[in-house]
Amino acid sequence: TSVEVQNYIDHVFEKVKRRDPNEEEFHQAVYVIFKSIKPVLMKNPAYIKHNILERIVEPERLITFRVPWVDDQGDVQVNRGYRVQFNSAIGPYKGGLRFHPSVNTSIIKFLGFEQIFKNALTGQPIGGGKGGADFDPKGKSDGEIMRFCQSYMTELSKHIGPDIDVPAGDIGVGAREIGYLFGQYKKMRGRFEAGVLTGKGLLYGGSLARKEATGYGAIYFVKEMLNDQGQTLAGKKVVVSGSGNVSIYAMEKAMELGAKVIACSDSNGYIYDEKGINLDTVKQLKEVQRRRISEYALIHPEASFVEGSSGIWSIPCDIALPCATQNELDVKAAETLVNNGVKVVAEGANMPSTADAIAVFLENEILFGPAKAVNAGGVAVSALEMGQNSSRMSWSFEEVDKKLQEIMKNIYHNSLTAANEFNKPGNLISGASIAGFTKVADAMLEQGVI
Ligand code: GLU
Repeated sequence: TSVEVQNYIDHVFEKVKRRDPNEEEFHQAVYVIFKSIKPVLMKNPAYIKHNILERIVEPERLITFRVPWVDDQGDVQVNRGYRVQFNSAIGPYKGGLRFHPSVNTSIIKFLGFEQIFKNALTGQPIGGGKGGADFDPKGKSDGEIMRFCQSYMTELSKHIGPDIDVPAGDIGVGAREIGYLFGQYKKMRGRFEAGVLTGKGLLYGGSLARKEATGYGAIYFVKEMLNDQGQTLAGKKVVVSGSGNVSIYAMEKAMELGAKVIACSDSNGYIYDEKGINLDTVKQLKEVQRRRISEYALIHPEASFVEGSSGIWSIPCDIALPCATQNELDVKAAETLVNNGVKVVAEGANMPSTADAIAVFLENEILFGPAKAVNAGGVAVSALEMGQNSSRMSWSFEEVDKKLQEIMKNIYHNSLTAANEFNKPGNLISGASIAGFTKVADAMLEQGVI
């Protein structure tokens, strides 16, 4: 019965909170999944009989390790490295590495947990994992970054491999870091195993369109959402938070499809130009020079820079794309966006909206695209990179981009279908969670109690 199913869900959720009381972000991610899948448990009692929920919230393995390195002053620094190997029911663990001072067990576990369902949604054979370190790349020299990456990989290499666990980038880890990590992995193994990392440089096994994939994929998803309303991106006012890899390529594709991107940000504040942002300047500042977004306003005086990154949600727009970081969009920001007439909110970052913010969007019937569906294009193309590596082939940009568009379309339609089938019409949060969950849960059932 409904009460029994709810009791089971509550029982597992209480146990998760009791076991790890300080992991707030992880609890937040678990809460969303548990809330969405109740109708699935009602329909399939085998999930309860085989205690799938309690198994799925417990990582298969959680590794933490010391990362010592020598800074430019000759002083020895120590950071903590992490890798969570969360679920391998449908493929080797897959997920990015995040280097950021906020990284802790809760952050890594929430990201790894989300990754399980996101990866399942892509339709690719990849399990869920995540890793990183509480290392702050800001202000570090190239040599310091390299030495940190080498030390990190010296330990991580004992736990990963092309058929075991395949890391990639996330916040603070881009092409440069992947290069240093790959070099050290190769040295530790004494073999060229291209498929051990994704997001690699094109000279040593990287895939065309991987860099663009998360941002482009997010816009392909938004395109599908709008299409169902008989609308397109043309002429829409778009606000995109962040100015990293996800944000930049979301802006690029949105502009290409005729939208006007009027603001973006970094952790210090946001830039705003009613006439539209110049993306070449943003790319130059962020991708090449590794500078702050505030400098944009020095180059383009017609634009304004405003301190404080959360203020970006006070700008009236049709489409809001949080592409910076977790919990960057709170209930107040959600209310402001709704009052200013926002029509679509799609999450490029992982868990950028707080639970209360999501509730505001749903109450007001805003079209809402959840992270695990919207930003899945990145890891989807990572899986395509793994495929190219193991077949010793490389596909053209157009080929990869075409597959990405198909994957995003499928994710949208599978999420929508699942939402409708389980009586949550139009609710893509429930739909994406259900579609991802059932795939992983069914694979777990077939493989027995492991
Ligand atoms: N860090 C990205 C994500 O959150 C990509 C992971 C990957 O390509 O493995 O999905």
